[in-house]
Amino acid sequence: MKFGELIGENGRTSGHKAIDGIVDQKLATSPQNYELWLHYQNNWTPNLNAEIDSALSEGKAIDEQFSEVLYDKYFNSSRLSSHVVQTGARLATELTAALQALSEAGSQTEEFTSSLEDASIKLEENTLNPEKLIEIVSGLSRATREMTEQNAQLTKRLEESSTEISELRDHLQSIRAEALTDSLTGVANRKQFDNMLRFRIQESRSLGYPISLAICDIDHFKQFNDTWGHQTGDQVIRFVATTLDRLALKDHLVARYGGEEFVVIMPRITCADALPILERMRRAIEIKRLKRKSTGETLGNVSMSFGVTELTSDDSMTSFVGRADEHLYAAKKKGRNQVVSDQTAIHDAA
Ligand code: GH3
Ligand code: MG
Ligand code: MG
Repeated sequence: MKFGELIGENGRTSGHKAIDGIVDQKLATSPQNYELWLHYQNNWTPNLNAEIDSALSEGKAIDEQFSEVLYDKYFNSSRLSSHVVQTGARLATELTAALQALSEAGSQTEEFTSSLEDASIKLEENTLNPEKLIEIVSGLSRATREMTEQNAQLTKRLEESSTEISELRDHLQSIRAEALTDSLTGVANRKQFDNMLRFRIQESRSLGYPISLAICDIDHFKQFNDTWGHQTGDQVIRFVATTLDRLALKDHLVARYGGEEFVVIMPRITCADALPILERMRRAIEIKRLKRKSTGETLGNVSMSFGVTELTSDDSMTSFVGRADEHLYAAKKKGRNQVVSDQTAIHDAA
């Protein structure tokens, strides 16, 4: 997607079409329905489009319930927030129970202390006789037994709470990871990219490190899809993601930016140092003889174009991404299957 495509005339049109979709299907004009139809009108989520199209072709009504199912399935940020709310509620219940058990134990401890005190007072009385002593000792033994039992119950209750709380924590962590991962390729998604880029820019400014950003896009991919089909196209997108991820440096982040577009956040290296890494990626993709997984049929090769730029002192996040995108566009214009960097762009301009 070209930067800035969402605003201006284009954005207005697809926004209006999204409303038309909602009206046509007699749905409520909720933000969720708007988001759903905006994606549909722009084919941003091809699997969502396929599902809606197949329902429409079967004459199925896209009612409120079906829309909700679709929304939950494709926009998992809402899934995340509903999971967080549910998990939060379970956690609160668990903590209340644990605190209740602790405070009960507290009052039981007080009772125990007072029976000990009671016994010690009685022991000091000079009217002590064997019967009285037996009575004191059996009272103490009862109190100790009760205290031990209550202690065991408390330990068990607290162990249960602790297990439950760590399960909740693991659950939240996996939901969080899911919400930041692209489901097709397993690399970071757009949301993780946004978070990480913001973080890395701040980091590089405060520590005085360089940082480079690459955007890359598969060449003539529409043609590939048209020839071999969308599913095989998805396989290629997965191959490209894996290749980029394998060749990226350890602390660099590869993310799926859009359909067949990826970004690489490259902290701590200059644009000139990023170049050989990207060249290796470009080369690994170019030389791979692709085969259809199911049949082993040869599909030929794909190539990829790259734009890479280094952060300047007066960059905003938008201008940084925008410049990488301009370089990518230049690489496409120059014939594709190449990397355009700040240096090559200057060279070309001269
Ligand atoms: P260019 O070299 O200029 O990038 O040409 P292109 O055909 O790759 O560019 P364009 O952006 O016009 O088309 C991108 C195509 O990528 C459109 C669509 O067929 C395909 N595509 C986008 N997302 C997906 C996806 O998730 N799966 C598959 N299989 N194809 C996708
Ligand atoms: Mg593209
Ligand atoms: Mg492309």
